[in-house]
Amino acid sequence: MAGKARVSRLLRERVARAAGDRCGYCRTPESIAGFRLSIEHIIPASKGGKTTPENLWLACHACNEFKGSRTHGRDAVTGKRVRLWNPRRQRWLDHFSWSEDGTEILGLTPRGRATVATLQLNRSELVAARSLWVQVGWWPPRGDSAESASRTT
Ligand SMILES: [Zn+2]
Repeated sequence: MAGKARVSRLLRERVARAAGDRCGYCRTPESIAGFRLSIEHIIPASKGGKTTPENLWLACHACNEFKGSRTHGRDAVTGKRVRLWNPRRQRWLDHFSWSEDGTEILGLTPRGRATVATLQLNRSELVAARSLWVQVGWWPPRGDSAESASRTT
């Protein structure tokens, strides 16, 4: 049982609600993604992470795959290997922001930058999708940008 992480339906619902039904990393909501997001282990099960609410969050398939069993990544600015950003313990806005045009995630801290790079949060297909979402006013997500209230379209 240890390796196989079973997540009950109730636990999934609880985590999904806490995560706001969107990927904790690239912020893509399930409603736009059009597919069911995965429950991910913040500390991977292979590294001893438990299948408990404190260690679970919601992630899209791609973010989950790029994260894999990684817990650390390299920050290109400092060249240091740092822990990946933790969606449960750390505020997204403290570590990331949206580019001016709303299509790219910018890392603000070593952890933020390492997470953008490791999880490839600006993968080309996602940036292409975001640019369409920007056109219809779905993006960037409200609450992720301090200026979103005053933004003119
Ligand atoms: Zn994602």
